[in-house]
Amino acid sequence: MNNQPVDTEVKTRAALEPLLSEGEIERRVGQLAEQLAKDYAGRDLLVVGVLKGAFIFLADLLRRLNKLGLNPQVDFIRAASYGADTRSSGWVKVFLDVSLPVEGRDVLVVDDIVDSGRTLGHICERLRGLGAASVRCCVLLDKPARREVPFHPDYVGFEIPDRFVVGYGLDKAELWRGMPDIAMT
Ligand code: 5GP
Ligand code: MG
Repeated sequence: MNNQPVDTEVKTRAALEPLLSEGEIERRVGQLAEQLAKDYAGRDLLVVGVLKGAFIFLADLLRRLNKLGLNPQVDFIRAASYGADTRSSGWVKVFLDVSLPVEGRDVLVVDDIVDSGRTLGHICERLRGLGAASVRCCVLLDKPARREVPFHPDYVGFEIPDRFVVGYGLDKAELWRGMPDIAMT
């Protein structure tokens, strides 16, 4: 087994600055679920989670939605954006695409965070291109100060400052995803 530390910069919990507590996240996820349950009541909903960062938010949100009477189908997409530093316009590569039918469906894209807006902008356009009846986006975190393309998430958990955050699915060098709260590095 390789036990070499992956991240040499942030090794301990104490080096992280708390931003959102477990309780704050839980309450807000509950509120988002209530809003979604109202907006999508009686609709044929397909939820598309964006890997990897969305997996914990999506798991909590889905269980809340189920308790509120919503039973959506679930699929995943995996994509990464390469910013203006690597290509003049910035571009997005899809590594794993949706496998369930999208045409004519109400699609809700769920992600951890919107930063430049490139990844989610691209994913939503792609799903519209596949013939979705509607495409909306729900993110736990939004950093509006960082937006590089005009993308507006429909449901936002928290607006946060321009700081790099980890926990609750969000990583740094693939670490910290399992931390139940969210902290700044
Ligand atoms: P965008 O295309 O909006 O610039 O990229 C969004 C993606 O960048 C997110 O899904 C996430 O993977 C990553 N990202 C942006 N800001 C942060 C952050 O503060 N912390 C972490 N862990 N990832 C971030
Ligand atoms: Mg992401």
